[in-house]
Amino acid sequence: MISRRVLDAAIVGAGMVGAALALDLARRGFDVALIESRAPASWRAEDEVDLRVVALAASSIALLRRLDVWTAIVSARASAYRRMRVWDALAPGSLGFDAAEEGASALGYIVENKLIQSVLWQAVERHGDIALHCPARVGASELDAGGAARTLTFEDGLQLRARLVVGADGAESALRGLLGIETRDRDYAQRGIVAHVAHERAHEATAWQRFLPDATLAFLPLVDGRSSIVWSVANDESERLLALDDEAFRAELGAAFDFRLGAVTATTKRAAFPLRLRLAERYIGPCFALVGDAAHVVHPLAGQGVNLGFRDAVELADVLDDARERKADFASAQALRRYERRRRSDNAISAQAFDAIQRGFGSDNTALAALRGAGLALVDRVTPLKRFFARRAAG
Ligand SMILES: Cc1cc2nc3c(=O)[nH]c(=O)nc-3n(C[C@H](O)[C@H](O)[C@H](O)COP(=O)(O)OP(=O)(O)OC[C@H]3O[C@@H](n4cnc5c(N)ncnc54)[C@H](O)[C@@H]3O)c2cc1C
Repeated sequence: MISRRVLDAAIVGAGMVGAALALDLARRGFDVALIESRAPASWRAEDEVDLRVVALAASSIALLRRLDVWTAIVSARASAYRRMRVWDALAPGSLGFDAAEEGASALGYIVENKLIQSVLWQAVERHGDIALHCPARVGASELDAGGAARTLTFEDGLQLRARLVVGADGAESALRGLLGIETRDRDYAQRGIVAHVAHERAHEATAWQRFLPDATLAFLPLVDGRSSIVWSVANDESERLLALDDEAFRAELGAAFDFRLGAVTATTKRAAFPLRLRLAERYIGPCFALVGDAAHVVHPLAGQGVNLGFRDAVELADVLDDARERKADFASAQALRRYERRRRSDNAISAQAFDAIQRGFGSDNTALAALRGAGLALVDRVTPLKRFFARRAAG
């Protein structure tokens, strides 16, 4: 069945980025549909902290505040981090950022993905004017004969027409494939092991990152005093670490972290995610745009994936709004090009910087290690350089 109504935007994927974009556009008065294959699991305070967490930067928090969902998130369960400490196993230099030096109360917050998704989902449902299709999967996307709209056909035969279709359907984006958009990929042959761990010493509301030969290890502070770890290691090493019993895993983790927070005294179950770099060759097509992980997947060492995605959502909504204000066609190639120009280079610079750090630090070459140590120490001492990195890290 095809609807004769032509929506302003149909967003495919209600992950953190797609749901935020749908809400933002609807609140700006656009006529929006949101299509999701499965409803997000609901978040409950009595449940154990979910293993998937993200470090939200200031720019993401500003968006969530503007969408009136931040209070619900921060009052449910979120942990402010006020400091960052970065150091290298093979070199003496270290780098520290402090919120106080930036005149801020926090550099960012550690929040469960599931909590952000479920608060956004509830806000979408409450909004009332967003046409929510779930569970639904898109099977085809065709440009109308006049080129002014796109028709989406769901796997159950339902059809929707929209001036703009947005692919927010994550790293394996089916929409990107339907539009024939290629990606540039690098398989890091690594997996990110995640778990929540308790340790002897207090985490001091600090996000810690240690670079080791062939690995990076982050400890992110949780509100209950534990830390959420992301330990990025080669595939075969991840298998070995996942197979260890809890006691042996805790011992290896403590040593890999140089016992900075004392011994690791308890751990939850562990999970592991494959790590890769994936950059879409273009972000737009006729009446089409990509946002979030559908457009770019980056190494988690800088904790920036969803922060970049939220910035895509803000930029796209601003560009569409601006075109409409000027009484121009908001889904025109010109408007969409403006979005692509602004976001693609920023995302590529970030992705390549994380890639270079991953490769530069993930090496046990002693000359490189000395350079890294000197680099960290230099950045730490030179205020403008440090400010630059602090701003980039905090978004
Ligand atoms: C170990 C690890 C640690 C990380 N840490 C951080 C961090 O600290 N900070 C940070 O910013 N980022 C971090 N990230 C990255 C972050 O998790 C992702 O960037 C983010 O989840 C991407 O959000 P998204 O909304 O773009 O995509 P997704 O979360 O993948 O959402 C896509 C949505 O689309 C739906 N969907 C898929 N296909 C279809 C379809 N055909 N039809 C309808 N719906 C569909 C899915 O069900 C899903 O709901 C980390 C990643 C990893 C692996």
